[in-house]
Amino acid sequence: MGKRLGVMGGTFDPIHYGHLVTAEEALVQLRLDEVLFVPTGRPWMKEHEVVSAAEDRYLMTVIATASNPRFSVSRMEIDREGATYTADTLRSLREQTGAGTELFFISGADAILEILHWREPEEVFELAHFIAATRPGYDLAHFEAAAPPLHPEITVMQVPALAISSTDIRRRVADGRPLRYLVPEGVKSYIEKRELYR
Ligand code: NAP
Repeated sequence: MGKRLGVMGGTFDPIHYGHLVTAEEALVQLRLDEVLFVPTGRPWMKEHEVVSAAEDRYLMTVIATASNPRFSVSRMEIDREGATYTADTLRSLREQTGAGTELFFISGADAILEILHWREPEEVFELAHFIAATRPGYDLAHFEAAAPPLHPEITVMQVPALAISSTDIRRRVADGRPLRYLVPEGVKSYIEKRELYR
């Protein structure tokens, strides 16, 4: 039997329990062998936003995933020159792992829609299955309208823990509100030590 590899793409600024629960749910629901977290290098669509240094986002992802033997973290996007495109990442992984490994790209539903609109969908569908994670209450009609008919290669997964968001966490730090139970303790300590989001 070939290997089933989850590829968890995100800016992870910072990584939080919503991301970790999403990866664990995907691991179990889709019978994945492992999940590789891939922090984005230079998110080209966020050129006008302040994004924390790639090294900080990478290290927080390593800290958050360290205790799970089925989770690991790749530097491939943060070490790659130029803007980050998911199709390039999936193509590199396909070359590294060979045809025997099935790839499952997991990310937020809005990000998945953007990826599929940017490139010819059929090209990216040949590289991976897509898992679109949503918060409860996310308007699935919006998703279906944007990707009609819902392609068999896309699985929509509702994850209650995704009520946690990186944007909210950054605001909480700026306002001096608590982070406990939203991010792993190690990530909280790292944010304090590096004085991120002040
Ligand atoms: P984003 O636009 O900042 O996030 C969109 C929504 O998805 C947010 O609610 C976000 O919540 C959530 N989300 C992001 N990553 C998630 C994950 N791994 N699991 C669950 N929810 C997630 O998205 P982004 O972080 O910039 O991009 C996500 C991934 O898509 C990255 O790997 C990025 O490189 C890729 N992407 C590629 C292209 C392209 O190749 N053309 C275009 C867009 C995105 P949080 O803020 O709480 O994470």
